Amino acid sequence: TEISRSLLPRPRRLLLLLNPFGGKGNALQWCQNHILPMITEADIGFNLIQTERQNHARELVQNINLAEWDGIVSISGDGLLYEVINGLMERPDWEEAIKMPLGILPCGSGNAVAAAINFRAGFEQTLGQELLTNCTLLLCHGAVTPLDLVSVTTASGSRSFSFLSVAWGFISDVDIESEKFRHIGPARFTLGTMVRLASLNTYRGRLSYLPALEGTAHRPILRSITMAANGSLPFQHGPLHRTVSDLGLCKERHALCFQEVEPADEPTPSPSSPPSSSSFHSSSFSFENLSEELVADRREAGLPMSAPGVSLSPRQVHGPPDEFLAPLDQPVPKSWVTVEEDFVSVLAIYQSHLGADLFMAPFACFNDGLIHLFYIKAGISRAALIRLFLATEKGTHFDIECPHFIHIPVRAFRIEPLTRKGILTIDGERVEYGPIQGQIHHSVANLITG
Ligand code: ADP
Ligand code: MG
Repeated sequence: TEISRSLLPRPRRLLLLLNPFGGKGNALQWCQNHILPMITEADIGFNLIQTERQNHARELVQNINLAEWDGIVSISGDGLLYEVINGLMERPDWEEAIKMPLGILPCGSGNAVAAAINFRAGFEQTLGQELLTNCTLLLCHGAVTPLDLVSVTTASGSRSFSFLSVAWGFISDVDIESEKFRHIGPARFTLGTMVRLASLNTYRGRLSYLPALEGTAHRPILRSITMAANGSLPFQHGPLHRTVSDLGLCKERHALCFQEVEPADEPTPSPSSPPSSSSFHSSSFSFENLSEELVADRREAGLPMSAPGVSLSPRQVHGPPDEFLAPLDQPVPKSWVTVEEDFVSVLAIYQSHLGADLFMAPFACFNDGLIHLFYIKAGISRAALIRLFLATEKGTHFDIECPHFIHIPVRAFRIEPLTRKGILTIDGERVEYGPIQGQIHHSVANLITG
């Protein structure tokens, strides 16, 4: 009967969103060969949708019925997760919507969050299919960790929610200029770095920030690392030393973790889940199905109809108020610190990794309530910059004494470029160039970390 069915635990249902053009363009192949066999074995129902264009995922999640899903999973690089998060924040019910567990499976060229999840789970830093396998295992395991978001405002007044970084100068230049090397995968960042090093630019600007702790302004990085080690910063260290066996997973033979699941000879849909969510759909079918649902949802809600694939509502980001920020056209609050410099790069990052092999902020946690502000001042030698860059792979750049490299944990920041041309990125996506500011919002989202 209806009642007994509703009382039974039902298998998890995941909405998988796949960008077929992410990374080297092999996301669909990797999904079919690596992801789907594992989540099928874990008895997780899913619906797979391929995005057809930029912002498709963003519009999709604005209109879905959230009650039907236990998680939304981005299969691409970090860019697709950015769309999902901002799509959810554009919903009138954003406060509930952003609580939806979000997963990420690394099939792009920028896989920072996947690398952070992999690291926090205690796996070795890795790339490619091995990173994907680890992250799929963790997704199947399914535990959720609160995730900080940073609300970022640009000069035109547009506001978006960021989970990874805001970058200016060297780092954003490399990120955007290396888009043309996308076909070589994550190696595009290394190649892009070498190209940029050959013609090193500096950028004049003002950088303002609200220190996370009083007295941390202008201290060299080694100082803040020591503080972190002493526990005097509010770092909540994740299960760094949790082993693979603790998770009930086996790295060598990952099928082991689902031992209790009987391998089915044929894919018979479980009676407690609707067939639509447990079966695999090719992109066009599933999108059409979902569009029908969207249309039905909108009819029910009395909303105007619109063709599928067209934005159904004007883009308006909601979200919590930015209590730390003054409007961009007004001076920063008195408690802030401002430096004016020639910068090689400014980076605000809130994940441990900036890329799968860029271990930028080893101490950063998903919900430490901190923005890690880094900047590199002009005057640094190319050799020192290369040393720093090479050391970020292992996260040992803090061991290098470099007076041009500064790290400060903050709650909010403002970048005011004075150099007329340059590139700014939010989570690796290019945004309008000009004054930009952001502040942390503690634990507003949920990330599936296993
Ligand atoms: P990568 O790490 O390879 O850059 P991303 O996930 O960041 O992968 O995706 C790159 C860009 O592609 C993002 O800006 C994303 O919004 C956009 N995108 C998503 N789906 C599509 C699509 N179907 N066609 C074109 N661009 C897309
Ligand atoms: Mg990207």
